[in-house]
Amino acid sequence: MKKGLDKFFDNDFDNDWFVIKDGEKKSIRFTEEVPNITVARQHFVKTDGFKGFVFCLNDPDNDITDECPLCEVASTEWNDPITVAKKYFFTKIIDREDGKVKLFKGTSGISQYLIKHYQDNDSIVNIDFNISRKKKGNLTQYNLSGLVGSIGDLKEDEKKKVAELDLDKNLSFNKKTKKEMQNIINSLEDKNNNSDEEDEDEDSIL
Ligand SMILES: [Zn+2]
Repeated sequence: MKKGLDKFFDNDFDNDWFVIKDGEKKSIRFTEEVPNITVARQHFVKTDGFKGFVFCLNDPDNDITDECPLCEVASTEWNDPITVAKKYFFTKIIDREDGKVKLFKGTSGISQYLIKHYQDNDSIVNIDFNISRKKKGNLTQYNLSGLVGSIGDLKEDEKKKVAELDLDKNLSFNKKTKKEMQNIINSLEDKNNNSDEEDEDEDSIL
């Protein structure tokens, strides 16, 4: 079992993640081809004790079909503390602004663009992409386009840096057990109740 109270606060807002703000345009290089990119479902959780994304336990794409406590209480309202699970993809990119390898999390719009680019060009890793973010009403729109003149393989030192960043290890911070999920839910329900509770037995997860 994971030890350390600080782990309770692990979230997505780590320096290793690629961030693009409204109105910004950046250049990036994807480092994994479309068939190798990780796809998974996540809830967004926002409570006093925990803020961040949590992997859903019911994710048939990844052959996980467990009962997910977060699904049972999840809401479609983005402002509610626990939202319904959405599909995201996770990969590693090189941020051309500072040359660092970062974790990249994308939504369906970007994945559609990448799939199309892959179908047309057989690769998404041999060219840099411009990515921009713009708010349109309530929607945030991301635009992606191949950067003309940037075609070519990664350099050896870039490949080395990519290999050094452990995607799975970083994603493991967003994995919660049923018990940890239940604790998050309980913290919402017992927000104003400080009474002591006895520890329940660990859920048996087969
Ligand atoms: Zn779930």
